[in-house]
Amino acid sequence: MKLPGKLSKRTRSLRFRLTISYVVFFSLLLGSVGVLFRQALVSLLDRQARALLEEEWAAVNGYLRFERRRQHEWFYDPTDQEDAAIVERLRRYFLLTDAEGNVMEASNAYRVLGVEKPNEVRTALRSSRVEWKTRRASNGEPYLVRAGLLHDDRRRAYFMAIALPLAENERTVEGFTVNYFVLLPVMILASSLLGWFLAGRALRPLHDVSKTAQNITGSNLDLRIVPRGSGDELDHLIETFNRMMERLAASFEQIRQFSTDVSHELRTPLTAIRGQLEVALFTARTPEQYREAMVNALEDVERLGQIVKALLLLSQSESGQLALQKSAVELSSLVLDVVDQFQIPAEAAQVNLTAELPEPCTVQADRIQIERLVSNLLSNAIKYTGPGGRVSVRLRREAEEVLLEVEDNGQGIPAGDLPHIFDRFYRVQSAEHSPEKGLGLGLSFVAWIAKAHGGRVEVASVPGEGSRFLIRLPQGDGADRIEGALA
Ligand code: ADP
Repeated sequence: MKLPGKLSKRTRSLRFRLTISYVVFFSLLLGSVGVLFRQALVSLLDRQARALLEEEWAAVNGYLRFERRRQHEWFYDPTDQEDAAIVERLRRYFLLTDAEGNVMEASNAYRVLGVEKPNEVRTALRSSRVEWKTRRASNGEPYLVRAGLLHDDRRRAYFMAIALPLAENERTVEGFTVNYFVLLPVMILASSLLGWFLAGRALRPLHDVSKTAQNITGSNLDLRIVPRGSGDELDHLIETFNRMMERLAASFEQIRQFSTDVSHELRTPLTAIRGQLEVALFTARTPEQYREAMVNALEDVERLGQIVKALLLLSQSESGQLALQKSAVELSSLVLDVVDQFQIPAEAAQVNLTAELPEPCTVQADRIQIERLVSNLLSNAIKYTGPGGRVSVRLRREAEEVLLEVEDNGQGIPAGDLPHIFDRFYRVQSAEHSPEKGLGLGLSFVAWIAKAHGGRVEVASVPGEGSRFLIRLPQGDGADRIEGALA
């Protein structure tokens, strides 16, 4: 059977399930307590009844005398009213037989319970054990019977039984049972209401969290839930949620910034290409003029291509699809080649670029990626070092590692930006920075390539004095495949 939507939603709710577990637990507890109490009451009343019958048995012994065989007598002072009353009470449920089961005295009340047959008497005498039995009178009322052996002065055996009505005890137990188990559903109902209320109260902050979460969209990521200050699990959840929101907001901001930057970056070469083509179309006359316009357009197409390539590479490295093509790479000559390539741009920027590469050192690495790493570091160093500055590249070996150092005396990086420069799309926002706009991806690649080779990047920078990037690469084998190394 399928519950209607609203009801089934409610029955699946945590509040409902908490209440149900609470009620089930409480019912089981109350039920078992009730059963245990009832049993305790029954056994207490039973013990009391037996103790009373024991007392009466002893009293009967005190009052009975046997003159000769099969002749007994109640020995008491009939003028003593108290004595007479006691004896009368003792004889109310009373049976006395000789060893063969011949009745010597039997009260009417005892006869109603059923006098023991001679063979029962004989068996009882043979076993000589005290017998406890519960008998019911014809009207259904219960009695406790104590039966057993009795001797006279000459060691002649008799069978005696006395009884005690248990109706009162039974009514007490019944009264307790009825009252308790009638009250039980009321208690369970009250406990379920209490459970429902308490579970609702405990879960209210969760509703606040889910309500806030529902209201969150890309445009209001600054929403936060106010912790209640109780320091409990829910506060912990709220704090975790808020921290997650902070991270999400930061990522969203980065992505937003990135989209703006990418469109900006793409627009500049596109506008230039369009301008050059229009000029060629409307004003060029000679083949040289056409050629010049096409060469300029091609340069911008080249830049466009680089941007698209960087984006593609980034998405591949992010999704772990990029496998390193490792081979033995001689780092000294590789770095020297890259430094040579950067001499012309360095001269153009009036930066003195030098390299200190004392010894050849070979590592297992992906040549293309290591070239990209050195290029990114060098292009940054040149870009962010003004005319007259110095950039130096050093390579050395230390223990199990190869250290590549790119140092400049350029503008440096503010301390607040330093922890973020390896984040994707992160660029230092300041007027003197970015003489030439980048995508903020260069250092992300540097960090990713180092990590993919089992190494890491360290940076030290003082604003106004310069920066030093240190790459540590292990000489042994690094990681072969990069699973989200950028993340
Ligand atoms: P970009 O494309 O902007 O150069 P990068 O990821 O290569 O992106 O660098 C991130 C930021 O770190 C840059 O915007 C720049 O502000 C700063 N930076 C990187 N290298 C240097 C350096 N050698 N000197 C000063 N600032 C640097």
